[in-house]
This record gives sequence, C-alpha cells and structure tokens, in this order.
Amino acid sequence: MIPFQPFYNMKIGVVDLSTSSAEVIPLVQERVSRYLGGAAMNSAILEGYQDDALAFGTGPLTGSFAPASPLMIATFTSSIFKRLCHVPLMLRTGPDMKFSGVDFLVVKGTAPEPSVVHVNHGVIRILLAPTILNMPVPEAIMELKKTSPPFQSLIITGPAADRGSSYASISIGTNGSLDKAGLATLMAAKSLKGIMLGGTDGLPFNKDNPAQGKELEKIISGDKNFKRRGFYAVLKNLEGGKDAGKYLKADRKKDMACYHCPSPCMTHVRYSWHDPRNQEMEKSEEGLLLLDHTGCIALAKKVGKNILPILWACLHYGLDPAGVAEMLPEGGAMTECINAIDKIISDGPPRTTDVSEANRLCGGGVPPIGTDDLWEKRVALAMVLGVCPIFLLRFPEITDTALLSFISTREEDLKTLQERLSSAISSL
Ligand code: SF4
Repeated sequence: MIPFQPFYNMKIGVVDLSTSSAEVIPLVQERVSRYLGGAAMNSAILEGYQDDALAFGTGPLTGSFAPASPLMIATFTSSIFKRLCHVPLMLRTGPDMKFSGVDFLVVKGTAPEPSVVHVNHGVIRILLAPTILNMPVPEAIMELKKTSPPFQSLIITGPAADRGSSYASISIGTNGSLDKAGLATLMAAKSLKGIMLGGTDGLPFNKDNPAQGKELEKIISGDKNFKRRGFYAVLKNLEGGKDAGKYLKADRKKDMACYHCPSPCMTHVRYSWHDPRNQEMEKSEEGLLLLDHTGCIALAKKVGKNILPILWACLHYGLDPAGVAEMLPEGGAMTECINAIDKIISDGPPRTTDVSEANRLCGGGVPPIGTDDLWEKRVALAMVLGVCPIFLLRFPEITDTALLSFISTREEDLKTLQERLSSAISSL
C-alpha cells in the first residue's frame, strides 16, 4: 500500500452552513490513492453533494518539503464559466489548512447570517460575523483579529461579494488572489464571509523529503529563471508585461515567496498617491503585494500610470483586477476609474470573460507561461499534487517522477503513482 498517511491528516471537514454544524470524516486511503489529491480529489468528493457545495483541498505535497508547496485548491461550479473550476490559492493557505488538522473542507448549505469558519486542531467552528459585512477587506481582517480565535491564514470576501458582484474575488489576507471564476460570489451567496485557519499543528512527511527538496533546489538553481526573481521578472516575459512593468514603477520593497518557494514571483511595493476626490487630503503612502500577473497586465492596459491606486482599490473592495479592467474606460483619469469601480459594486453588472478553455478549468488566473501544451500538463500536475502551478511552469526541469518520489521512491510504488497521476489528471 502506498503510504499517504504522513502527507495527510486523513481527515475531511464537512461544514453545513444551514444548520451551523460541522463534522470531520475520514479521508479513505483507497480513495486518496486513486485520485491522489488536490483538484481531482476535490471533484470526487463534491460528487456526493449538491451543485452549490464547494471544496477546499490540498495535494499530497502541500505543506511538504517539496519546493513551492503552498497550494490549496478551491473547487466549485463557476457562475462565470458555467462549469466546475479549480482555483489555485497560494501563500500559506494550503499548509495552514493541513496544519489545522484537515486535508479537505467541504462547505454546503447557506448560513442564515454572515458567518466565518474557523479550523484548528481538527476542530471546526462556525462563528457569526455580521459586523464585517460590507467592510473593506483590511478593516474586516482587523475586526476578525480582535473578535475571533487566532489564525495564521485567512480567505475572505469583501464588499464587492457582499453586494453580489460577479467581479468579486476572494482575498488571502489583504493580498488578493487568483480567483477570477466567482469563488467570492459563491461564498457570499452562502453567507460565508471567510475561512480562518489556525495552522498550529504539523505533519511528519517522509524522513528523506528535506534532502529531496534540497536536491531539487540544486537542480533548478542552474536555471536562468532561478535568479530572475520577483513579480517584474515573471511579468516581463508575458504578452503586454513589459508595458505593464513600466507603469508599475514603485518603491520595490521586497520580493515575497509563498511557503517553501525558493524563487519568488511576488513583490511587495510601496507608492504614494493623492485621491483626486479629496483635494484637502495630503498624499498618502500605501503598500501592496503584487501577485496577480494577468490582472496587472489587464489593468495597466486600461489605466496606465494609475495602476497602483486602482489595484489597491480592487484589493480593498475584494474585486478581480482583470474583471475591473474589462469595465474601465481606456486611459481614464483616476476619478473616472474610481467612479467606475463604485458603479461595478453598486450596479452588479453580469460578467463574461474570455480565456482559454484550459484556463477556465483553473479559474482563469494562472499566467500563460510556456506553450499551451506545456501549460496544460504542468498546471494539471500542480493542481493534483499541491505544488504551485506558476513555479512548475517556470521550472519545467522538475519532473513528475521527482515530485512523486517525495511520496515513495520504491519502483513499484512510483509506477502505480504515475498511472494514478495520469488518470487523476485526465479526470479534471
Ligand atoms: S512561484 Fe510565486 S506564486 Fe508560486 S510559490 Fe513561488 S512565490 Fe508563490
């Protein structure tokens, strides 16, 4: 039997918002060895629930010593793409879910009042949170920090989702996310404001895994992409990225990495701006984490040099920058853009968006790095095993076998794992 135990808690949390109840059920070894995890396992789990249920899941390598292993995958029927989508969530969300004692979390039903779910030590609590309804994301987080049990990671919706906007996007902390498929809108329809992950426990993984992780880092350290770190290095190789980079000039503070990522693709910046609607106000200084490459390219095309304050407004209200870009006037002045954002939130126009069929499956947020064929294979691999899809696209020398070897190095196990991986990927 292939040993999945050290990679998972072997537990699924099931939340029923309509009754404010939760239970933890076993993750059956037979099932996990068939689907391995991530998006494939999420889909299999959701088959037993109604269409409006959503699943948050990890892969076997999420939180492990494999490089760039931050991945949590949210699976749900997208109201935008009219199909099942798998949205990748990075930073520390995946490890913190595992280290809170569950590997998968299913959310069904609708809460009678705005609620948040808190998970830690394998215990799930549903807490009422009516006070954070319509609060901008940073303020809602401050409020939750004051009133809720401690948490390491938080997935939260903002005022855009509260008002039913299909342009809403969930935020991981205050940083935004790659949700371009309506996860935030579905959460709001369920009166689910957020998921808080305590993340205070751990998992043993395999004893050889730290050395395997170091070996993989050594292999990729010779890749030209390894030293090209930060948001701008990835951005400039994408179509429209060089132009966007010119407008994103800001005080670059620090490149930021997700869990166990040796080559970050995100950058924290600071900038100053003046709100044209308030002439009496002094220039203010703001900071934000740049993590959404496709969102920034789309926004830069429309708003040019005003991109950072507009991006900040998107994060503040919990909006997808790429969706907002579709609605903004080209070359619009700052006031015009801010007014357009207010209108998106207040009028709730329906959204359609044009991305490739494969990217629809992954929620439309993974940047187009490499050829289409490579993109599909690498992203699917990432979404099953729990490794970052952007990282695997940047470092194609990391093979399927090298990743599966974290689970087992026995030849017969690897053969079985490879077969199961192919079948899990084709089930997506
Ligand atoms: S490549 Fe970027 S998104 Fe992926 S794990 Fe590294 S820092 Fe995070």
